[in-house]
Amino acid sequence: MIGFRSEKRRAMNKKHLLHRAAASALVLSAAIVLAVFVPTATSSQTTEYGEAGTNERRPPGRIMDAIGLKPGMVIGEVGAGRGRFTVHLAARVGPTGKVYANDIDAGGLAYIRERCERDGIANVETILGRVDDPLFPRDALDLVFMVLTYHHLSRPVDMLKNIALGLKAGATVVVVDPDPVKDSDRRGNESTSREEIERDAAAAGFEIAGHETFLRRDNIFILKLKESPNIVRLTILYDNTVADASCAGDWGFAALITGYEKTILFDAGAKADLFLANASRLKVDFGAVDVVVISHDHGDHTIGLPAALPKMRDPLILLPIPAASMRSISIPPGRKSECRESSSPICPGARLTGIVGTNIREQGLILETPQGIVLITGCAHPGIVAMIEKANHHDFSSPANQEKSPPTPLLKRGEMGDFQGKTDLGRPIDIVLGGFHLMNHTEAQVNAIIARFRELGVKKVGATHCTGEAAIGLFRKAFGPDFIELGAGRTIPFGASRS
Ligand SMILES: [Zn+2]
Ligand SMILES: [Zn+2]
Repeated sequence: MIGFRSEKRRAMNKKHLLHRAAASALVLSAAIVLAVFVPTATSSQTTEYGEAGTNERRPPGRIMDAIGLKPGMVIGEVGAGRGRFTVHLAARVGPTGKVYANDIDAGGLAYIRERCERDGIANVETILGRVDDPLFPRDALDLVFMVLTYHHLSRPVDMLKNIALGLKAGATVVVVDPDPVKDSDRRGNESTSREEIERDAAAAGFEIAGHETFLRRDNIFILKLKESPNIVRLTILYDNTVADASCAGDWGFAALITGYEKTILFDAGAKADLFLANASRLKVDFGAVDVVVISHDHGDHTIGLPAALPKMRDPLILLPIPAASMRSISIPPGRKSECRESSSPICPGARLTGIVGTNIREQGLILETPQGIVLITGCAHPGIVAMIEKANHHDFSSPANQEKSPPTPLLKRGEMGDFQGKTDLGRPIDIVLGGFHLMNHTEAQVNAIIARFRELGVKKVGATHCTGEAAIGLFRKAFGPDFIELGAGRTIPFGASRS
């Protein structure tokens, strides 16, 4: 909190008490300004001694505009020093965003923490890194920023490779560094040429996606990871909530899975125009869709399909019931469709669960990823636990199967032991994402389901769509950092597929 300091520090600073009283009033008013104007409050940051000249040559506001820094973003700053730029990044991303300020100098980081506390900046976390690794959290960052740092890196290629681990899909790495020609004071080791950065970037799997030259002495290089075609990604195209402000939210579900031999569309939302609009904002190429999986015959999962089909070539449509029986949509004549009763492959790494339930027949999608085996469900009307058990070939919830398994009558639920069951991919489901249909369940019932998830070995969960707000809250609380937020526009990278 602003104006609060430890007793120890208060004693240390006794001499400056008078000056401090005035200063803290100033800081307090600056903090109020900050709270009101967070996104544009660059002018309310303190410019400390020695920073004015640098800030004039490299105006933080102009640089942040040029690199597309927006409120809500999560930024990793490499070589944050004493926080000269950190405070501006923090103000721009605002209270919904965050800045991870990295450096190898613990003293500098301690200074940044003190500076942020003094300036009432609550969205900066410092990370003491290594010369070749900033130790950023994995898959967490929208942008990595470094100003006047790159030419200091002793192992730039390793650094870039390790930075890549922290990036979300589509994230950028921004390097602001003196140009060897424009900045005649800095040659050789004190600057970075386009050729140098191009070579390092290529060696680390990046490419130069942008190059801004408006600064008097420096270049701004914007790097992006080269698109690796076999990175498995799940992109939510349609959901009750929104993760990307450029998308619209609406009751329904649809997701696109890329990175396998086949590109898979899972469900197609409730309103055709909204589905197509979200897909176009997310740059979905329907022409690349090879397989469509429809989880179940409810309009909030199917209605976008007939509108999207003309944009597709010749996809195989995998339905939960025969095409002629579908009630929510009709599959146009000439389109290939199949209904598969039992678990079956779509392509290496992707499978169907087979049909679960009798009243509402539903199927889930099973994906093999470097982060584990993923189950994607539409609504899970037959029961989310039944869907997981089906995927793991242990259908305890169906009376018919209760006789067959567990294999010994002595084994009760909760005592699964070696009989936990596994998918055809050789392991049980690790991650469950989608709609769980728990709107009308009591807290005790949802908690029992969460306990069952644990028994079944589920490690991460993304509950959305028809799960219901209360149940989503319980899953979020139970799984903590292993709860995966979904919502339209969210992309989840799972790492490279084997194919
Ligand atoms: Zn449904
Ligand atoms: Zn639904």
